[in-house]
Formats: sequence, structure tokens, C-alpha cells
Amino acid sequence: MQYKRINIITSAPKPPEASVLIIYTGGTLGMIHDADGALQPFDFTSILDHVPSLRQLELNMTVIAFQEPIDSSNVTTGDWIEIGNLIYEEYQNFDGFVVLHGTDTMAYSASALSFMLENLSKPVIFTGAQLPISSLRSDARENLITALEIAASKHDGKAVVPEVCIYFDYKLFRANRSKKVESLYFDAFESENYPALAESGVVINYNHSAIMTHRKSVDLILRRKFEENVAILKLYPGMTRTYVTAVVNTPGLKGLVMETFGAGNGPTAGWFIQLLREAIEREVVVVNVSQCPGGRVMQGRYKTSRQLREIGVIGGMDLTLEAAITKLMILLGEGDDLKEIKALMQTPKCGELSLN
Ligand code: ASP
Repeated sequence: MQYKRINIITSAPKPPEASVLIIYTGGTLGMIHDADGALQPFDFTSILDHVPSLRQLELNMTVIAFQEPIDSSNVTTGDWIEIGNLIYEEYQNFDGFVVLHGTDTMAYSASALSFMLENLSKPVIFTGAQLPISSLRSDARENLITALEIAASKHDGKAVVPEVCIYFDYKLFRANRSKKVESLYFDAFESENYPALAESGVVINYNHSAIMTHRKSVDLILRRKFEENVAILKLYPGMTRTYVTAVVNTPGLKGLVMETFGAGNGPTAGWFIQLLREAIEREVVVVNVSQCPGGRVMQGRYKTSRQLREIGVIGGMDLTLEAAITKLMILLGEGDDLKEIKALMQTPKCGELSLN
């Protein structure tokens, strides 16, 4: 892919204290209204015209912009690989990274990156906006400037937040715990099962006990093989056998995330259990996550989930759907030992699930 690259020369009198790479992929943040009133991406290299205050930050900033910015509804695993490659290649050159991304699929992309960037010891902060930066009431400026500050924050020479996060509307969340929950107001993201890592107000108040601790100095590893032959089966009362059969029997299917009710429950109808059993026998990895944004899957607590456990459905505990599907894609892409993949699905890799 071709990129546009610009350096932002700071006007601060002191030399920059940290360096941050901004990767601009698209999304509302960088859009303007065209002649017909529809939102479309602007040339991000003109960002300084929209946020001149960026020059005041005591940061060495470089922007790498996708040549063709995307609405994040068009994001693909190929784009995740592009973002991962950029961070991997530039890892030694910067203290932190800010990824500007549309909000619609940000939780998927940020979750994917959290699994791709193994042994991460620097911040990778995703942010975006609900209103374009060109709008008077835009949330873009605050989101961008605070995300930059978080990406640059160090304590005793080490990054304060050495993980992939989403910063939005004054809150910093762990990426693989986040969900987009709001499309109208500014509080677009929530992390029901894990506390916010920071809240910003007059100061940025970090929740240090919730933030990942630094690993011993090990090299960054980039995982970039995705298995795309996966599917999501959302359960609903009244679903037909034809619907379940179509999803479960998708040709070439390797992994299935099933979005169940409450604490991981589903129908006990014989045909339903039989379809899942056959899929598992065909070596499809089936993972159970809940439709509830808060709480956890406890297979066996109710009779309506006991059979799921018995036939070998994997309990996804408190994984978000976004984390479950992206983790499964990477585990299936990178490995081929089914037993190990199933065990890893239930083992925290980078803070995405709690064991109890
Ligand atoms: N459709 C846009 C996107 O996800 C919405 C946004 O950026 O908030 O790219």
C-alpha cells in the first residue's frame, strides 16, 4: 500500500519529550461534507489546518495516512495487517502510536491489533470521532490531543500504558474489552467487564492497577495470519433450522462464535444441538459468548447450556464478541493444533478475559 507521510514540526520552545506515530486510516474524524452534503475523507496531510494547536504539543509527531482513507465499515483483515506492519516496522522509532480509525468497527480492529502485537511494551491508542474535525462541535480535537498525550506518557522511562487501547470521550479502555455502544452521542464506547484504564479531566487520571504491567524485555512479535473462514451465529427466539444449518454448514468453516442468551444459554432442541455437534465433529471450533455486554458465560449453570458444554462448545467467559472473533481468526490462522487453539481461546493472552 502507498502512504502519505508528514512530520509535524512543533513550535514549542523545548525539544520534544516524546515521539508519536499517527496512523490515519479514515473514519468520520477526517471527513468533510462534499457538495451534496455527504461525508467524505479529506487529505489528512492538511490536518494542521484543522488542528493548528497540534503544533503546541511538545511532541515529535509523524503522520502516516492511508492513500485511500476508508470508512471503517469497509475495513478488512488486510487493513489490520497494514496497520500491524506499520507499527512493527516503526516500533523502534517512536514512543507510542495513535491509530485514527472510524468508530463503527474500531472495537474489532483494535481487538485484532491487541492479538497481533505480541509482547507490546508501548502504547497503541485507537481513537476517532462522532463528528468530523471540521465541525465546530466536533469531539475529534479532544480525542486526538488526549490520545497523543497518553501515547507519549512515560514513567521512569517506560510507557504508562503498554497496551492497545481505545480512547474516546474522556475515557481510556482496553481495546479487547471495548464495544461501540452509541452512534449519536459522544460516549461511543463502553467496557462493561473491565474498568476504564484512565479518565481525563483537568488531569489524566490513570487506573494503574488495571493497566497491563510491563513484560520483561522481549522482542515484539507480529502475528498476521488470519483465518477468514469463521462465522458468527446470533441466536434469537424463533430462529429456524434453515438459518442455523446455513451458518453452521458454511463451506470451509473453521471457527464459529455463537452469541447466546444471558450466561451462555441456548435452545435445547435436538436439531440445534445435533447441528452443533456435527460441526464440532468436523473440527469447527465453536465458542460461546453472550449477547449481554456485561457478565460472563457459565456453561452448565442452566440446563440450557449444559449440553453445549457436553458436546464441546468452548465457553468464552467474559470475552466480547469483537475479541472472540478476532482472537479466533488469529489462533486458527497462526496455528493448526486444534487442542491448543481451544485451550488458548480460554487463556488470557493480553487481558481480554478474566478467568473468574
Ligand atoms: N462510518 C464511520 C466509520 O466507522 C463512523 C465513524 O467514524 O464514527 O468509519
